[in-house]
Amino acid sequence: MKLLQYLFFSLLTGVVGKAVTRFFDKNVILIADREDIYMEDSLNISDLKPDNYDNAMDLRGTPTHVCVCGCTVWNLKVMFEEGMISQYFLDMECSSCGSLATAPTPVDDRNELD
Ligand SMILES: [Zn+2]
Repeated sequence: MKLLQYLFFSLLTGVVGKAVTRFFDKNVILIADREDIYMEDSLNISDLKPDNYDNAMDLRGTPTHVCVCGCTVWNLKVMFEEGMISQYFLDMECSSCGSLATAPTPVDDRNELD
């Protein structure tokens, strides 16, 4: 009986060991502190607007991706159809300084943007 238990245990550990080895060959497990994952200072979408418009400029005309202040996040109005953006206004506002700019479109040359 002890031999049977030993064989069963050996077989079980061999199968499990092989599965564990295969799992670690394919995957990496990262252990992180919750404080590292959750950003305490994460912004709410309603906070993504300038505190004041003292430094805001009207930069409309040439489509751009980046504001003169360096910010790349814009506030603009969009419409959705079937889960995708279907239309958007070309006037947009920098979420950091409040400057107005022109949104790029698919026909704008990507090399000339920035
Ligand atoms: Zn800006």
